[in-house]
Amino acid sequence: MAAIAVTRTAHPKPRPADDTLAFGNVFTDHMFLMDYHQDRGWHDPRIVPYGPFTLDPATCVLHYAQAVFDGLKAFRGQDGAVRLFRAPKHAERLNRSCERLCIPRLDPELILQSFTALVGTDQAWVPGKPGTALYIRPTVIASETFLGVHPSSSYIYFVILCPVGAYYAEGMNPVKILVTDQYVRAVQGGLGEAKTSGNYAASLYAAEEAKRQGYTQVLWLDGVHRRYIDEVGTMNIMVKIGDEIVTPPLSGTILPGVTRDSVLTLTRDWGLRVSERPIAIDEVIEASRAGTLAEMWGTGTAAVISPVGELGYKGERIVINGGRTGELTQKLYDTIVGIQYGTAPDRYGWLQEVTPAQSRAA
Ligand SMILES: *Cc1c(COP(=O)(O)O)cnc(C)c1O
Repeated sequence: MAAIAVTRTAHPKPRPADDTLAFGNVFTDHMFLMDYHQDRGWHDPRIVPYGPFTLDPATCVLHYAQAVFDGLKAFRGQDGAVRLFRAPKHAERLNRSCERLCIPRLDPELILQSFTALVGTDQAWVPGKPGTALYIRPTVIASETFLGVHPSSSYIYFVILCPVGAYYAEGMNPVKILVTDQYVRAVQGGLGEAKTSGNYAASLYAAEEAKRQGYTQVLWLDGVHRRYIDEVGTMNIMVKIGDEIVTPPLSGTILPGVTRDSVLTLTRDWGLRVSERPIAIDEVIEASRAGTLAEMWGTGTAAVISPVGELGYKGERIVINGGRTGELTQKLYDTIVGIQYGTAPDRYGWLQEVTPAQSRAA
């Protein structure tokens, strides 16, 4: 275990009440930092009071977006214990994103330690109300001062935490999705499979247009044929046609979602028919016409499962399951959330308890 120096804040902030929490606008008292330099490797892991960075205006990440991040959650169970959900899987993905962006890999154990030590330090910030969680955002940015396109010689790894409110405070609400054949998110050989900042900047324009048309999100089609479904907003997409559950394969253009993996694990365990295969938007529309389009949902850490109630495509509206949350969609949500809060058995070893001792040992 690397020694993590802890400097506690002298000015703890007031913590908002659990029922006032939203997403991503409140941050805890501390953050985790670690530096990389090509001559020293990753060094100086530490927990310090949360606060701003000072960056030279020529810091390369500000110009060339050599940056990656990830996102996972810690939950306070009914027994009061705090547990991380599938942290090693997120650590592994962060490293894969690093590799794709020419950022030096981190020691996976140290990534996990950064989560447990920081969450341990700010444990009091983990909300307890059902549906709430502590969102963990590890990020790596290129920190060398230069203008010019080459991999940075130095990086900053940081982790920040935000307590987040219940995503479905008023129950699950199916969303309306605009299928865009005008803009694309990723192509084979591009950055689609990395959680890298530029992908999100690139998605804004289409998302704003979807909002103007009354939709919540964009469904991205593949960048070459604009025919196969890729992802929805920042979630993986799944559809149930007849008795087959279909989701696009991990072929390089989509993010390998951890929630996607959890859903595939569960549905296969339940003996359902599951296919990771390319699926054309036309197949979805034909299924809708034939009456076999049963359910559609997005998967991601923030919402866990997001039912899709309607698609807009080429001026046509395709309503799914009468615009209501499907049975399987609901079961998947309930099962995963049950595991996260410790009310359902953790058969797959997805949870890792954070003990206050871990922060002291650090
Ligand atoms: C983060 C993300 C997902 C979902 O991944 P999870 O690990 O399930 O949170 C899906 N697609 C994109 C583009 C993402 O950024």
